Amino acid sequence: MANDGGNPSVTIAGGGVAGLTAAHRLLERGYDVTLIEANSFIGGKLAAHQDRDEIANAVEAPPGAAASSMRSCPACEGRGGCLRQDDWHEHCYHMYLNWYHNFWQLMEEIETLDGFVPMPAVYNMHRVAREPAIPVVNVGSPWTTLPNLLAGLGTPADMFLWGQTMADLVGQPARRDGWLEKTSITAFMKSQPYTTDKALAGTYRTTAQAFASPSYLSSARSYKALLSYGLRLPEPSMWLLTANTDDAIFTPWLKRLAQLAKSFEVEQHEYFQPPGAFEAAVAARAGKCGPGGRLTIKMLTKLQALGIDDATGRITHATLARCHSSPSVHRGRTGITHLPEPMKINGDLILALPLTQLSGLVTPRIAHRAPNLTDLRYLRCEPMISIDLFFRKKLDGLPKGITVLLDSPYEMSFFDNSQNWKSLEGGNTVLNVVASNADTLTPSAYSNRHIIDTLLHELSRYIDFEREDLFDCRTHLQTNLGEELFVNQVGSWQWRPTATCGIPNLYIAGDYCRTFVDVVTIEGAVVSGLIAAEAVRRRRGRGYPIQILQPDQYPVLAMSAAAMAQRPFAYLARAFSAADDAIKSQYRQWFPNG
Ligand SMILES: Cc1cc2nc3c(=O)[nH]c(=O)nc-3n(C[C@H](O)[C@H](O)[C@H](O)COP(=O)(O)OP(=O)(O)OC[C@H]3O[C@@H](n4cnc5c(N)ncnc54)[C@H](O)[C@@H]3O)c2cc1C
Repeated sequence: MANDGGNPSVTIAGGGVAGLTAAHRLLERGYDVTLIEANSFIGGKLAAHQDRDEIANAVEAPPGAAASSMRSCPACEGRGGCLRQDDWHEHCYHMYLNWYHNFWQLMEEIETLDGFVPMPAVYNMHRVAREPAIPVVNVGSPWTTLPNLLAGLGTPADMFLWGQTMADLVGQPARRDGWLEKTSITAFMKSQPYTTDKALAGTYRTTAQAFASPSYLSSARSYKALLSYGLRLPEPSMWLLTANTDDAIFTPWLKRLAQLAKSFEVEQHEYFQPPGAFEAAVAARAGKCGPGGRLTIKMLTKLQALGIDDATGRITHATLARCHSSPSVHRGRTGITHLPEPMKINGDLILALPLTQLSGLVTPRIAHRAPNLTDLRYLRCEPMISIDLFFRKKLDGLPKGITVLLDSPYEMSFFDNSQNWKSLEGGNTVLNVVASNADTLTPSAYSNRHIIDTLLHELSRYIDFEREDLFDCRTHLQTNLGEELFVNQVGSWQWRPTATCGIPNLYIAGDYCRTFVDVVTIEGAVVSGLIAAEAVRRRRGRGYPIQILQPDQYPVLAMSAAAMAQRPFAYLARAFSAADDAIKSQYRQWFPNG
């Protein structure tokens, strides 16, 4: 259906990476796009935000203390307000991998590639000994295999066996994908006759932190995809940003969209006063009309329900509600203001929402037309917690790259923003600490203060600091309750949605969609947005085809042959590992005190 100006119109709910990607490609093809976003900032799980206009999220005061005491501290007084107002927060540090071709292409178009720097190493920190963190460099690269084996993360024999199981997984032919999907990574590894428990531990750690799901629950098929793509381009193992994602990605992206658009309107309401990124976008247009369709953005606006016309089976209207603060930041305290407002859906609708939000929209009437959408409820999501810590001093000796805290109870890791973000250069330490396993912290039940105290206690077992070293008022906790991360668990592939469904004008995008990327990543979100946009384009027949790039992999036959060739060494390594265990256990028997 076309609007008055003759352009086909598309409504996109969700201004995360998937929604923005779809908006970008359709806008440049002349579609009129209306973007609806619940937060006051764009970017979704990849976004960065400030608390400047958001007052409800103060860390709860301990019993007996005035709530306001947690919002400022003597250090901030006399500086014209609490320092936290200027702090940027990302929910979690982000790794950008080489094989994210579609993401890189977008970043090139919005001219932000300069903001990314290569980071070859991931650091691993032990608890008690406070030894220097162990770097593991460019995993999968032939040039760093030997140093990684000898790095000290495990015995060389166990490290080799860890690599061997990964090589055997990548060497599995595509026809075994169905079996791999029903097999956990642990089960696959256990099925290799040479595996040791210590080799298993390496994979457990990687998946628990990167997948937010332990290896005994994670799909071997999805892990194979991640390894195959990574192995083809292992150097550097990742890229990191030198600024927060709002400055580095989303402000330039919004500017680009505004320049593309024939007209650009950001709807204001009493709670949404467009922040700097939106002003920059308007300025970037320099009063000119772009070559694309019209862009209308509704921020702090939540899609609450869908209306379907039983006769045509099309979505005809949506129910919107205004929020007075960003739901992602102020989970559980979001006030929906006013009565919900109906909005007519004239053309197509792309839902690029978090999985939990999307499944909440699937009413029996929607499910009647698109029965596969009820399968969303089989999919599992996990919360991940992050805290930003602002220190009053520079902590010495912290690694520059992502640092894994070995054997930490909540699968913790941290990233030192102050060594990486140019805006924080030369200042005091600022850490983003992530708990990938937040299950036992049950963020819905525990207070923010309890969660922060628990994580600080654990962190202090790895790095030296006192509570007084922190600006307490600037400590920022973020859970992703309500928009938890989809996890690639065993058997989930069949339940994941595709871009199209039984409702002709409804499309789905999001990192959990079934695409060749498979693994929940930024690239997965981008590709899902591209596929949804291409599906709209094909149905409407308007605009040139949307390019979607697939990551390369080495031929499975070559990988399989290489894994086979290494097998004899795997048995040798297993023998070494067993001998090492036996010697160590004898030693402990003879010298129980070390
Ligand atoms: C802690 C964490 C760490 C991660 N680290 C990495 C990493 O290092 N590398 C990597 O590649 N990937 C990483 N990811 C994954 C990556 O961030 C996501 O896959 C990607 O950002 C998802 O984008 P999306 O657009 O699919 O969904 P989202 O980002 O969830 O976007 C959905 C949007 O919809 C909005 N919304 C929600 N409900 C409504 C509603 N009812 N109405 C209107 N709008 C609504 C939300 O506010 C949001 O903006 C990480 C994810 C998390 C949670």
